[in-house]
Amino acid sequence: KSLAMSPIYRNEKQPTVDLPSVDLLTLLFDSEHGLAQDDTTLHQEAANPSNTVNKRQLRELVERIAHGLRHNYGVGANGPNKDVITVISYGQIMVPAAFQGVVAAGGVYSAASPSSTVAELARQVKIGNSRLLICGQEHEEVAAKAAKECGLPLTSVLLLESSPKWKLRSLDGSIDAISSSRLPCQRITDRKALKNSLITILWSSGTTGLPKGVMLSHENLVAETYITSLSGRQWALAEVEKGNELPAVTYRTLGHLPISHIAGLFGYLLAPMYSAGTVVWMRKYSWDDMLKYLKQYEITIFYTVPSIFLRISKSPEVTDHFKHVVGASTGAAPMDGDLMQASNAKLGSGKDPMIGQTWGLSETTGAITMMPKGQSDVTGSVSPILPSVELRMVDDDFNDVSADQEGELLVRSPLVTNGYYNNPQATKDAFHDGWFCTGDIGRMRNGLFYIVDRKKELLKYKGLQVAPAEIENLLFTHPQIKEAAVVGVPSPDDPGTDWPRAYVVPSAPNAVSETDVKKWVADRLAPYKQLRGGVAFVDELPKNAIGKFLRRELRDRAKKEMSI
Ligand code: ATP
Ligand code: MG
Repeated sequence: KSLAMSPIYRNEKQPTVDLPSVDLLTLLFDSEHGLAQDDTTLHQEAANPSNTVNKRQLRELVERIAHGLRHNYGVGANGPNKDVITVISYGQIMVPAAFQGVVAAGGVYSAASPSSTVAELARQVKIGNSRLLICGQEHEEVAAKAAKECGLPLTSVLLLESSPKWKLRSLDGSIDAISSSRLPCQRITDRKALKNSLITILWSSGTTGLPKGVMLSHENLVAETYITSLSGRQWALAEVEKGNELPAVTYRTLGHLPISHIAGLFGYLLAPMYSAGTVVWMRKYSWDDMLKYLKQYEITIFYTVPSIFLRISKSPEVTDHFKHVVGASTGAAPMDGDLMQASNAKLGSGKDPMIGQTWGLSETTGAITMMPKGQSDVTGSVSPILPSVELRMVDDDFNDVSADQEGELLVRSPLVTNGYYNNPQATKDAFHDGWFCTGDIGRMRNGLFYIVDRKKELLKYKGLQVAPAEIENLLFTHPQIKEAAVVGVPSPDDPGTDWPRAYVVPSAPNAVSETDVKKWVADRLAPYKQLRGGVAFVDELPKNAIGKFLRRELRDRAKKEMSI
């Protein structure tokens, strides 16, 4: 079958966008591109509200850090895209300065998860051939030990803020030491250079295996920032055309997700800066602080993940915490219509649907489809496709499937990564004929896209396909279930068949029994989707830093439990 005949799905209203031919820092700082005024407060610390940074101050900080990195450590001295600097920190006001400072120096910003162990951090430092680490004060110990494990001297660890304990040099200190010289941000306009550049390594969440170093270029990050904000502006324009008045909304978002993930990088370091918004940094996430700050700081834009929406939907105490929120959205993991509606009822208290949904991967610089506010649908769809993104749905042999069938989603777009850092084999495996294979199974209903589950996670029951996510979503709706994850266990008497097994966190000890849980599913799902592998009750589920259930850990656990 020739590709020309195959269905390629695109944004219907605007298939492509003319992307600005500039580097990321020009897009964010240059007033002709970035929308923020010089005096807009871009960052504020929640616990210390007087600690703020506006655009002009940030630029100065960035250029001083860049100067310090170049002159004290030689970052970028041998040309751009070579020197990888690993950063590990909770979200805080110095992180954007460090990110942009590294890029301005010509270095590569590699973002390690704040929950990394010494071994995990050391692995990323080694893969990245990183000579320098930058850390926040909570991560001094893990950074210093990882540096040692990689044979790097303590002087290769810089602190985002000063602290006496490990006697590390602070980033601030290192820039003060070289006076207030600045290395001005360089403007890059050559399309090829923008496309082939490497400015960030993001580590995938490690949901299916070890995290992979996803390489992102100027073009990737500029495109994601530009295309997503364009969709927001188009929504606004459409409202104006309809004669609706736009509420004068201040863009204030709460930095509660890890900055090492594309959700944090995009949500706090790119989008708000481009769109003149403020990020209130809450450092380490806690549920109570999140609720407190949402109200206290009158947060208007709230992007979060399904595990947090699940808790919101089940919490009687959240009512007026979201009263200033005008736009919310979910991403990074599946969220179906039931959870959409339950969360919407809590957030919007009767208002129109206000929760959007994005689907994307680290490898696609984040969102490639986006259900924006205004078009919000409550069926759990992730449509529409963003402009400049092309999708296909294929079977195991890369034949396109028809619109009423499920298939793996492939993507082609300037948003797609150039590949995995220092891992040509993984890069080769991830592409087919220039299309990036997302590993996610999609389906279409009424012209809208839905994500079924990951291809690798789908279970087979006597040849029939079972998506663990579907059973999980159903379990979430049980009033006495706080959280649940479903994995397959091999059937002992039928090779090739998996039995779904649920790990359930009850709302209170013994609030629900195995029989109750099984019956909840039996009453609502087809016979082949039943919990034949049983139900195990646990106090909590293993999750990674962005709140995704680690089904692989549960699978190992299930294997042990089932062989007893
Ligand atoms: P790893 O690749 O290391 O196993 P990961 O795939 O979880 O980890 P990310 O790049 O953070 O790492 O996540 C991308 C994945 O998250 C997608 O492939 C998809 O499975 C899931 N995902 C993201 N958004 C959605 C969504 N709206 N609905 C369902 N799944 C989603
Ligand atoms: Mg992945």
